[in-house]
Amino acid sequence: MITLGLQEKNTLLADVNKRSGANVLECYQCGKCVSTCPVSSFMDFPPREIMQMVKLGQKEQVYLANSTWFCLTCSACSGRCPREIEIPAVMEAIRHLALEENYTNKSAKVKAIRKFHDIFLDMIRRYGRSYELRLMIEHNIRTRDLFKDVMLAPTALLKGKIPLLVKPVKSAKAIRRMFKMAEKLEQKQK
Ligand code: SF4
Ligand code: SF4
Repeated sequence: MITLGLQEKNTLLADVNKRSGANVLECYQCGKCVSTCPVSSFMDFPPREIMQMVKLGQKEQVYLANSTWFCLTCSACSGRCPREIEIPAVMEAIRHLALEENYTNKSAKVKAIRKFHDIFLDMIRRYGRSYELRLMIEHNIRTRDLFKDVMLAPTALLKGKIPLLVKPVKSAKAIRRMFKMAEKLEQKQK
């Protein structure tokens, strides 16, 4: 295959494999991941193409693609992959590597998704759980889209779908420790 001769020089492939624990070279381009993925039609490059681009070492295109940010980590693709490749782990690894190397997709949608990630993770770190009302308010403020979904809030609040206040879960301290351990592991992997 065209990729085999490039393995030694391909630092992207080595970095992605190391960080994700997957072996992207195993992909034989069947496309099952694409037909399963619920968001592949919104991606710059669907998962099959991302795999091939990683094999070819197309770092800039891979790091700047919106695909990894659009990935929902739903694992529908890996469940059907005949090569048992952990595609969501590959997507996540690419996201982290791109951030570490300062590659930034500047589209408004990716910016909004990144803000959502930051707020959500901060919430889990603090409370050990999601706090939807705060998530919605903070996301609207940070994306300067103040009235997004505002009309849904009263009904959701009245029906108790969104609690006004949340208490941290009992294991919140243990979750904070997990975050610290994960951060240390990430530092070691760099
Ligand atoms: S399903 Fe697996 S083997 Fe097939 S294209 Fe996707 S990643 Fe490659
Ligand atoms: S894990 Fe990501 S790439 Fe795989 S099916 Fe779900 S959204 Fe698509």
